[in-house]
Amino acid sequence: MSATFPRCYSKQDLQLNLMIVRQFSSRGVTSHLCARFKETQTRQVMARPSSDLAAFREVFSKAKHVAILTGAGVSAESGVPTFRGEGGFWRKWQAQDLATPGAFSQNPSRVWEFYHYRREVMLTKSPNSAHVAIAECEARLQKQGRRVTVITQNIDELHRRAGSTNILEIHGSLFKTRCMSCGHVGVNHKSPICAALEGKGAPDPNTSDAQIPPQDLPRCEQGGCSGLLRPNVVWFGETLDSDILTRVEEELDLCDLCLVVGTSSIVYPAAMFAPQVAARGIPVAEFNMEETPATMRFRFHFQGPCGTTLPPALARHNNEP
Ligand SMILES: [Zn+2]
Repeated sequence: MSATFPRCYSKQDLQLNLMIVRQFSSRGVTSHLCARFKETQTRQVMARPSSDLAAFREVFSKAKHVAILTGAGVSAESGVPTFRGEGGFWRKWQAQDLATPGAFSQNPSRVWEFYHYRREVMLTKSPNSAHVAIAECEARLQKQGRRVTVITQNIDELHRRAGSTNILEIHGSLFKTRCMSCGHVGVNHKSPICAALEGKGAPDPNTSDAQIPPQDLPRCEQGGCSGLLRPNVVWFGETLDSDILTRVEEELDLCDLCLVVGTSSIVYPAAMFAPQVAARGIPVAEFNMEETPATMRFRFHFQGPCGTTLPPALARHNNEP
């Protein structure tokens, strides 16, 4: 199986992908997915994708069911840090060091400081014109009996804040918690999330750990539980929620147009899902700062900041009522 993945996967991304496959395996569809992925690879059409906006707009005007896959690039244009890649550090760590079950069990205080900081940063960030264009498109098409679904890797809720309602957050949310004892998942927008984290979480590399005792970290408020809460995000080495993945599969099977926005197509899900849609003969349009390893499999490619390229692409078309 691993031979079917491009070598450009980082260890973490490969691990995430293999976990997905195992997840699907428990649902009995592994061979299906793998076969599709191989088929996609052998069918690579090396024709250059079109950058003809009018041609895309024609396809868009007829689409009844639009799936929009979004990734870090959309958030980056709102200034949301990812803590990955060059310069992407919180203190001396990157996301892949702290966003793991092992890091949380060893040092829940440090991991909570990291997530508290990320939650607080989001109070200073706003949806950008790409988020707004997607949300307006959903509202407008809905009135015409057409459907837009956002399938996002982003955990910052900027799509929701822009007004999108039909969202599948495959990596969870910074603003949801899950109880380590009873499993309850709750929405939580408190700032700070608990008294002990107030003023903590500074990203400077010289900052000392706050070493907050576990009983003072966020705790479950379900009757009589008070278990330790964790962020309800998918960490490295963890499986994605199988109910959400099932809904993603349904959307990808139903869509008659797919957009891949601000995601490199070398990491899950774009790596498997958008080529899978393209292999069905469905038009896929990529909006990204640069070409990606999957660009050549797609019908359209629009290069540049998605806050610039997306609004004219998703604006009301003359054919719309
Ligand atoms: Zn609980």
